[in-house]
Amino acid sequence: MRTFEFIRPADPAAAVATAAQAKTAQQGADVRFVAGGTTLIDLMKLNVETPARVIDINRLPLDKVEATPDGGLKIGATVRNSDLAHHPTVQRDYPVLSQALLAGASAQLRNMATTSGNLLQRTRCMYFRDTAMPCNKREPGTGCPAITGSNRTLAVLGTSEHCIASNPSDMCVAMAALEVTIHVQGSKGSRAIPIGDFYLLPGSTPNRETVLEPGDLVTHVTLPPPVAGNKQVYLKLRDRASYEFALASAAVVITVAGGTVTHARIAMGGVGTKPWRSPEAEAALVGKPADAANFRKAAEAAMRDAKPQSENGFKIELAKRCLAHALQMATTS
Ligand SMILES: Cc1cc2nc3c(=O)[nH]c(=O)nc-3n(C[C@H](O)[C@H](O)[C@H](O)COP(=O)(O)OP(=O)(O)OC[C@H]3O[C@@H](n4cnc5c(N)ncnc54)[C@H](O)[C@@H]3O)c2cc1C
Ligand code: SF4
Repeated sequence: MRTFEFIRPADPAAAVATAAQAKTAQQGADVRFVAGGTTLIDLMKLNVETPARVIDINRLPLDKVEATPDGGLKIGATVRNSDLAHHPTVQRDYPVLSQALLAGASAQLRNMATTSGNLLQRTRCMYFRDTAMPCNKREPGTGCPAITGSNRTLAVLGTSEHCIASNPSDMCVAMAALEVTIHVQGSKGSRAIPIGDFYLLPGSTPNRETVLEPGDLVTHVTLPPPVAGNKQVYLKLRDRASYEFALASAAVVITVAGGTVTHARIAMGGVGTKPWRSPEAEAALVGKPADAANFRKAAEAAMRDAKPQSENGFKIELAKRCLAHALQMATTS
């Protein structure tokens, strides 16, 4: 690991001012915030991340879960994944979020990992994590060995000829289905970014993963009020029962009245280059009877644009079955 300066700012404004001196907020940033450290410190040990300055945000007042005046919920950036998963309001009103958090990593990691760190965790593509290998995401223009190499766990949706890395987060899949807003304090003021606009597709610049600019500090996330009468499920399929990333997952938020779907929010994990909201699946469900045939049609719609690589074609059928089963679980619970 390279040597670095460790900074403990007194308040968010000081943290932002220091981070704003960075050349980029994307891969290769020379200044990084650290929250739980379970992604960043790993990548620093591997020399994949080599910041000269690391800003500890753990003493900033960003660790609360609070009700919002509109009936929603505000989650601070440094709220730990375990605290969020077990928060009574989250368990009652946003169970898909609690289930997704508890499906991630291990109890020890969840005790350290934070809301903002989880939003900004990096891909587990093995070439990205190995500085002996080329990788367009780590070093733009060097190539993507995963396309002809080991790609079993990588993405089938949102890929490009420059990068097929999957987004590994469980929490973010639930947050995509819940339509959260990510709040950022930057050197030019504060802004609120819908999660659908927060992540970038790899295109020709896979080193740029989000819309964040130098200095941007994620301060909190807001959840809209829960939709009355909805049912929620997070279903994760993986190679082993715990401590493993998703091969495919589905977050379902669905309302059924008189046997007909009146509202649906669907997001997929493990298969996309970002947490993958599926308006196609939602459109295939709303106004239709909540039955197995329509759940399968929604799953087909969700994966219609999937592009398999040499080793990960199995994910397409796996993801379809995952979503169809999650819909069945949600509507029969
Ligand atoms: C062995 C292992 C297994 C795992 N399994 C899973 C799994 O199954 N599912 C899953 O979803 N995750 C899994 N994870 C990933 C884990 O969820 C993430 O490492 C964790 O959520 C990151 O949170 P953190 O607070 O530790 O982030 P950090 O490491 O502190 O930060 C991560 C990134 O976010 C940036 N950052 C942090 N906070 C802010 C902020 N407020 N504003 C701007 N930038 C910020 C940092 O600069 C850094 O780039 C696993 C991790 C490990 C090591
Ligand atoms: S898939 Fe993306 S992260 Fe993996 S080697 Fe290719 S460019 Fe790098």
